[in-house]
Amino acid sequence: MKLFRSDLIAGFSDKLFEIPVNELKTDIIQFAEPIVRCMLTAVTAFDGYKITGKLIWSTIEICDRCLTNFPQEHELPILFWLTSNQDLISEVNEDFLWFPDSQDWVDISTIVHDLIYLDEPIKTLCRKDCKGICPVCGQNLNQQTCSCSVPRDEGQWNDLKKLVE
Ligand SMILES: [Zn+2]
Ligand SMILES: [Zn+2]
Repeated sequence: MKLFRSDLIAGFSDKLFEIPVNELKTDIIQFAEPIVRCMLTAVTAFDGYKITGKLIWSTIEICDRCLTNFPQEHELPILFWLTSNQDLISEVNEDFLWFPDSQDWVDISTIVHDLIYLDEPIKTLCRKDCKGICPVCGQNLNQQTCSCSVPRDEGQWNDLKKLVE
C-alpha cells in the first residue's frame, strides 16, 4: 500500500486505508476478508512524518483441540516514522522507514505484513474451555457428548483387561 507525499504534507487524521491482502504476500495466514483496514494519522516529525493508528483484519483460524474453523477479529496498534534523515535509519530500529525527498510515495506493505504475521497466535482455541474431540470416536465434544470411555492411561487399562480375562 502506498502513502503519497501530497497526502502526508496535507496531513490526515483517522483516515481509512484499505489494503488488499494479496498485496501482503502472505500464504500462511487465511484471511476471512480480503482486505486489511488501516486507520492512520500522520503528523510531521523527524525530517518526515510520524504515522500512528490501528490495523483491523479478520482471519480464519483452526482450533488446536477440536479442529474446527472459526473466524477471528484482530486489531493492533501501528506506529512508525517516515524520514529522509539517514542517521535514523538502521537495521536495529525498524520503526523508521526511509523516505527520501525525491520520492513521491512510500510503500508500507512490509510493515503491515510484519505486524500481521507477528500477531498470529502460536496456539489457537475456538474458545477457552474447548472440550476437543473424542480420541476414540472423533466426536466434537463441544457439540455433543459421546458414550466412549476413554482410558486415562493405556498401561493401566491393559492391566485391568488381564484381570477381567
Ligand atoms: Zn475448539
Ligand atoms: Zn467418543
